[in-house]
Amino acid sequence: MLYINGEWAPSRSAREFESRDPASGAVLGQVADAGREDVAAAIAAAEQAFPAWAKRTAYERSAILYRAWELMLERKEELAQLMTREQGKPIRMARTEVGYAADFVLWFAEEAKRVYGETIPSSRADQRFHVLRQPVGVAAAITPWNYPISMLTRKIAPALAAGCTIVVKPAEQTPLCAVETFKVFADAGVPAGVINLVSSSDPEPIGDELLSNPAVRKITFTGSTEIGKFIAGRAAEQMKRVSMELGGHAPFIVFPDADPVRAAKGAAAVKFLNTGQACISPNRIFVHRSIAETFLATLRERVAKLKTGHGLADGISVGPLIDEQALTKMQRQVDDAVSHGADVLVGGEQLKGGAYEGGYFWAPTVISGVTPEMLIYREETFGPIAPVIIFDDEEEVIRMANDTTYGLASYIYTNDLSRAYRVAEALDFGMIGINDINPTSAAVPFGGVKESGLGREGAREGLSEYLNSKVLGIAL
Ligand code: NAP
Repeated sequence: MLYINGEWAPSRSAREFESRDPASGAVLGQVADAGREDVAAAIAAAEQAFPAWAKRTAYERSAILYRAWELMLERKEELAQLMTREQGKPIRMARTEVGYAADFVLWFAEEAKRVYGETIPSSRADQRFHVLRQPVGVAAAITPWNYPISMLTRKIAPALAAGCTIVVKPAEQTPLCAVETFKVFADAGVPAGVINLVSSSDPEPIGDELLSNPAVRKITFTGSTEIGKFIAGRAAEQMKRVSMELGGHAPFIVFPDADPVRAAKGAAAVKFLNTGQACISPNRIFVHRSIAETFLATLRERVAKLKTGHGLADGISVGPLIDEQALTKMQRQVDDAVSHGADVLVGGEQLKGGAYEGGYFWAPTVISGVTPEMLIYREETFGPIAPVIIFDDEEEVIRMANDTTYGLASYIYTNDLSRAYRVAEALDFGMIGINDINPTSAAVPFGGVKESGLGREGAREGLSEYLNSKVLGIAL
């Protein structure tokens, strides 16, 4: 069902598409397949609902968000089970994601009350300046499948807190997660027209309507850099505001003064999270030559022990990839690396037959001897392959780490405080984990530099993305 103007309804064409379990191929349900006219109706509803929603007090909007936060936590287990079925991540990680998704709702319920303006001194004695901060209007969100609930709340919660209304197009692989997330907000009392959901199997006409309809004043997109560039280009035609959360190619640097065992455990944990399908997943693991042997032995041992399978089965820590195309990409990157001289230390192949039948499983993989000529050194892998590169000195590794068009997350392992600061300041990335594999939280700004995006989500900055500043110059 689509959710437009406070009502659940089929698409105008009555077309539907299937949602499937990537671990088995089983059909999970049918979803309404929106067309352009449904999107136009959703935008009209959001436009109509905007003035009244923007006029509500921040306290009223905040109260609805608090209720949504409570409901999301009450429904945590059902949401997590659905996420594991539809997206594939192991149930433990799905529960963590629902918690993370709820964190954004709570954070923005709090921040809604802190949209402060400013008073600025003038050079004229008879003049006063005030700055008002007002909602941008109707926002449109386009979201990916890899974090199918938190990527929605990271956009819906700040939009509602700011006083914007929103139309959301979720990824076609995870529409059921979007439906259940919308039920949370609808049941929390979000008024008709303030949030609208248009799931679709064909993103082009949906994107085209969102981008060409002048009522939409803001586009917030999370997905690949390729599509992000296209969308930002189109948004420029009407000078719509944009936030872009795009791809990454994170370096993970282990310096000679770090504990190689702890670093290898960290690398194994973060690399295989969500089957490597995370924008902050390490994509080049740089290890100093002096500790490479211990690091590789530990990494290899940890990865060999990871259990792959259906995310609802016991003891599974790595689920399936999202689709056949992802498997093809893994094969291409491994074949290319091997043909250029890399060694496969663990994994390196698709998992087939038995419990893997019908699913898109790839064995957790470690490859060493990776060099800049290889595809994996530049192309986002988005899968369970850990490529290791040996380095000799600090300046060299900083240069190599920055040698990418991406700039989202990066990781450093060192026990030298000066080095930690020096390297962190020299890295061209939006987020840096220092002896830490999770530099994220609803309270800190998430986002990248270079081709990893524009703007930030979460934190105070995440709310600013939905606000315009308006100056009042007053002559006394
Ligand atoms: P994607 O292929 O770019 O798709 C993202 C969204 O864009 C989907 O809803 C997709 O719809 C839609 N889309 C595709 N073509 C479109 C068009 N012409 N017009 C309008 N919408 C269009 O990315 P993905 O494969 O879902 O996600 C993986 C990527 O997201 C990776 O690169 C990852 O690094 C990035 N990501 C970034 C962050 C971050 O915060 N920086 C977080 C998570 C993921 P369909 O589903 O219908 O194709």
